[in-house]
Amino acid sequence: MAAYYINRNGELKLSLFCNNPKKARSNRGTCGAKTRKSTACKAPPVWDKAYDKPRNGRCKLHGGLSTGAKTEAGREAIRASNRRRAKKHHSISGEQAL
Ligand SMILES: [Zn+2]
Repeated sequence: MAAYYINRNGELKLSLFCNNPKKARSNRGTCGAKTRKSTACKAPPVWDKAYDKPRNGRCKLHGGLSTGAKTEAGREAIRASNRRRAKKHHSISGEQAL
């Protein structure tokens, strides 16, 4: 695919054998996760170079490196873990309320 681009010297060039220009790092947005200060995270999201888009929109500190469980067994394991933790949490908070 042919593309016009501006090189480091500011000259307009035509390249016949190149891919589309990658999205500039400054235009990739921010993570936006809620931080411990209750502000939005300003870090750039983890970038998938192959597809030139964010992996899941989060930075490396807020889940950007993880794509989540892929298999149904993995998803079920996470559901079971969350149920176990929620049950424990509610039983503890229930005791505190009494
Ligand atoms: Zn973040």
